Amino acid sequence: MLDINKIRADFPILSRKVNGQPLVYFDNAATSQKPQQVIDKIVEYYTQYNANIHRGVHALSQEATDLYEASREKCRAFFNIPTSRQCLFTSGNTHSINAVASGAHVFVNQGDEVIVSAVEHHSNIVPWQMLCERVGAHLKVIPVLDNGQLDMNAYQNLLNARTAFVVVNHISNALGVTNPVKEIIAGAHKHQAKVLIDGAQSCGHMKVDVQDLDADFYTMAGHKMCGPTGIGLLYGKEDALLALPPYQGGGEMIDQVTFEHTTYAGLPHKFEAGTPNIAGGIALGAAVDYLNEIGMEHIAAYENELLVYGTEKIKNIPGAVIYGDVKDKAAVISFNVENLHPYDIGTIVDKLGIAVRTGHHCAQPIMDRYQIAGTVRASFAFYNTKEEIDVMVQALQRAVNMLS
Ligand SMILES: *Cc1c(COP(=O)(O)O)cnc(C)c1O
Repeated sequence: MLDINKIRADFPILSRKVNGQPLVYFDNAATSQKPQQVIDKIVEYYTQYNANIHRGVHALSQEATDLYEASREKCRAFFNIPTSRQCLFTSGNTHSINAVASGAHVFVNQGDEVIVSAVEHHSNIVPWQMLCERVGAHLKVIPVLDNGQLDMNAYQNLLNARTAFVVVNHISNALGVTNPVKEIIAGAHKHQAKVLIDGAQSCGHMKVDVQDLDADFYTMAGHKMCGPTGIGLLYGKEDALLALPPYQGGGEMIDQVTFEHTTYAGLPHKFEAGTPNIAGGIALGAAVDYLNEIGMEHIAAYENELLVYGTEKIKNIPGAVIYGDVKDKAAVISFNVENLHPYDIGTIVDKLGIAVRTGHHCAQPIMDRYQIAGTVRASFAFYNTKEEIDVMVQALQRAVNMLS
């Protein structure tokens, strides 16, 4: 059982008011809030040991380097990444995907096929489109069933000898549906295709074990797992990372530089050009400590309780339609109320202090699939409560009355 009052006290923002009302923050799929422990780490870095890392012999640089690398080790363990060489810091989930897609011409040849799903975030579509254009490969799309799940029969039929790469999210940000990624990965590997799993929505909400999943690449967003913005992670299998060319050139990612020829640093530094987000990296380690202390199993179980409770309540609103209402999903409820525009609902509930997301959620293709402009999305985290859901449902009811 979680001590919700104690947890909520760790998140200073949760005690503020918005439009004169206590904040109800249900936009966790866009970004999570940060506990004081994470905020303190950022301040601590800049006040105690701000220095560049991996370069200086002086004490501050050593301290900062040690803490940054200790944080990498925490992240490694958190996702069961086999070695810290395979746990790369990036500026975020989008950067992680682009780092792979930009070098993926070593895996994808002209005439090959790259498979994405119809329920991807734009950041897991566009980099692959760009890759396909560059190498003359074809983008194929796994269709989505009416209930929001991937059409796995269609997926099996898409796989063939030309399949070179498969990219799918673990949990959809637009619908919250958990995809059968183990089955997807195993299917792709039968055809020697590489697989990247976009873990932006899973990383802070469930226990993720990259070795158990067996993906070639897995991406994470620090700011969606209680860490700061501007920091993310990229996991890769060792052979895949060794084959992948570096994404950016610069300091830190080199071994020897001459004007004739440059050799690159080994893993993980080959993908970490330039001065990184040092404070962000160190603070992400504090976020991992925080999540570990509560326990990802407890977080997942509690968030599921919120999901079940919220789903039931929203279903009781006359005219409400939930997209992706399946059992295997994260605490994300994407819905519309008949004849009402999601933006109008979002605006009214915001006046009552409630933060929900409205629109296409950076996933236009899945909105097109349902022939809607967007949805209202309420996404929960472990610091939310059933009482907050009641407040939202009352506000929704009020919005419906005002608008219809
Ligand atoms: C948030 C999100 C992204 C994009 O991550 P950034 O933090 O914007 O880089 C990609 N995919 C999914 C599923 C997401 O939820």
